[in-house]
Order: sequence, then structure tokens, then C-alpha cells
Amino acid sequence: MAKRDYYEVLGVDRNATPDEIKRAYRKMAIKYHPDKNPGNKEAEAKFKECAEAYEVLSDPEKRKRYDQYGHDGLRGVGVHDYSRMNVEDIGDMFGDIFGDIFGDIFGRRGRTGAARGPVRGYDLETTVELTLEEVARGTEKTIEFTRQDTCSECGGTGVAKGKTPSRCPTCGGSGQVQRAGLGGFFQMVSTCPQCRGSGQIITDPCRTCRGTGTTPRQRTLTVKIPPGVHEGQGIRISGEGEPGRFGGPHGDLYCYVRIKAHPFLMRNGSDLMVTVPLSFTQLTLGTTIDVPTLDGTRQLKIPPGTQHGSIFRVRGQGLPDLRTGAKGDLLVQTAVEIPRRITPEQERLLRQYAEIEAKQTDSESRSFFERIRRHFGV
Ligand SMILES: [Zn+2]
Ligand SMILES: [Zn+2]
Repeated sequence: MAKRDYYEVLGVDRNATPDEIKRAYRKMAIKYHPDKNPGNKEAEAKFKECAEAYEVLSDPEKRKRYDQYGHDGLRGVGVHDYSRMNVEDIGDMFGDIFGDIFGDIFGRRGRTGAARGPVRGYDLETTVELTLEEVARGTEKTIEFTRQDTCSECGGTGVAKGKTPSRCPTCGGSGQVQRAGLGGFFQMVSTCPQCRGSGQIITDPCRTCRGTGTTPRQRTLTVKIPPGVHEGQGIRISGEGEPGRFGGPHGDLYCYVRIKAHPFLMRNGSDLMVTVPLSFTQLTLGTTIDVPTLDGTRQLKIPPGTQHGSIFRVRGQGLPDLRTGAKGDLLVQTAVEIPRRITPEQERLLRQYAEIEAKQTDSESRSFFERIRRHFGV
């Protein structure tokens, strides 16, 4: 799930100019375009990865945040969720930037066309960071993000107040043009490159949105996170993506979960794990220790003669399963800690202990070395 570095994705330097970034993206987009790699899922994923990298690096504000804070800096900035987007939509999004590159090379399929009816808005993605405690209980998170919203000045038409759009001279208002296909043998109908299928062109653009029909707006939302969610899981908030076009519905917002590292506990499915360092004497004589859980500490009895690496299971102290709600366990693993420095008094006692130990015949280490001696005849 880890995202790759955007500069690496586009194969450019960290100090590449906007122009270099644009050229790099164009090259990559052509290389990985699914029309050139039919049925190749990996190419499609790369195509989408490049689009996302380009969206961030081509926007000075997003690029600055990415340079400073990496992927984390883009939380709530309103980066599109390309993984769920159609390739045609991505072509449309960047069609403006490249002029007609997607249209000419791949034959733009004109999903923006008025004739095709309403078009759903793009999905957006953001991230929420949770602690393991929040995962255990479930939580509500307030998220802030920027999204393109219908321009309130022109109501999304992109046309200045009191003006009307005029009919597109290229297609005569139909939104489609015919052009010769391969070698002129047949006619291909494609979306009009001038009006991008709407049949109309805006001669007096709205000043607020400069004719795009949308303006960026800050949104604040409360997201309910169910108990037991996993790292990388996406929570869909329906209708909180960008507005649709031609009367289409809003896209969705996907809120991806990131889980902060806990100072003691590691997650393994719905179990939690902790390793506790214990001394040779604690393991040998047995002891009672405090183990960390998600709500305070709990006492655990370590019986005499416990081995290094033993695992104790504290039932029901793990995380709930997202679907069933059944609680996992806390697994406590022992680790023997050998002292690096001892006092003369400790050394004296240990040597005394070692003398007795040498006379014992039932230790594993003793029989191990005896077997070696017997095996090699020494
Ligand atoms: Zn406007
Ligand atoms: Zn047109």
C-alpha cells in the first residue's frame, strides 16, 4: 500500500521545472496508457500512479506541501482517488493540459459529451490517522479537506452573469465531430475537441471560477470509523467527492485509514503483541509483571522455569474483528535479558551458582554438548 515517491514515479529530479514535469508525465501517460497496453493491469496501475504524481507535482501548493511533509502533507488537500477512476476520466482531466494529446493519439471517448447525459463527479481521497485505542473502540474523526464545488456565482455554468454560452463553431452544437480513421477508410465519430462535447463554448466566462464552473472550497466533515479497521482500509463517504457535470451526481470521498505506531503494542490481525524483557532470575524463579493493554496495565503471572520466547495469551485483550466484533487476544512474549554489567557481589554469587550448575546433569545445554562430543568422538 505504500505510495512511491512522486518524483521517482515520473522519473524527474526534485528540482524539475513545471515544464519538465509536464513533459515527463506526457511521456509516461503515453507509455502506460491502457489503449497501448490492453488488459495489462500493471500498466493501468502505473498510468494512474503517474496521474496522481502529476496532479501533485504540477500544482505549486500541493508540490510545496509534498516536498515539506511527503505523502502525509497531502492529507485533506483534495488529491483525486485515481485508483477508482476510469482511464477515460483521467484522460479528460488532463486533456486540457495536453491539448488534444489523448484525443489524437487514443481517440478521446468523450465521456463529457452532453449527448451522453449526466457525468458523475470525481472521487477524492484523504487520510485519517488513528491510534490503536481508537481502532479498538471505534471513533469519530473530523476531517477537513478542499474540494472543487459548484461555483456559487454562476451556478456551475461557467458563464458570466447575464451572458449566455454560444454554439460551438467546430461541431455546430452537436458536441461531436467526424474524422477520418486509419488511412481514411472509415469515419470515426469523436468528441468535439473545442467544446469537449458540450456543444457550447463560453465567450464570457464567469470571473469567479474563470469559466470552469467550480471553485475550491474547504469542507469539514465528521467521519464515523467502526471498531477494528485496518491500515490502508478506505471508508467511503458517499457524495462528498467533486460535483458531477451536466447534472450528474457528486463523486465519493474515500477516507483511508493509517494507524499510528503504539509505544508497546504491535498489531497482528485482531491480536496484539508485546515483548517483555525479563531477567534470568525472573524467568527462573517466576514473577508477576505488569503488561500494557489498550486500557491500562494488567498483571500477568510468569511461572517459574519460563523459557525465553514463551508466549502467554491474555484472552479478550486484543482488537475487535471488523465484521463479527469478536475480540482478539493480547500475546505476551518473554525475552531474556542478559546483564551487560554486574557488580563483584553478583559475580561472586553467579560463580557459586555456576559451580552447582556444573554438577547438574539434566540441563539441555549440558546434554547438547555431550551429544556433540559423542558425535565427533572428542
Ligand atoms: Zn462561476
Ligand atoms: Zn464543439
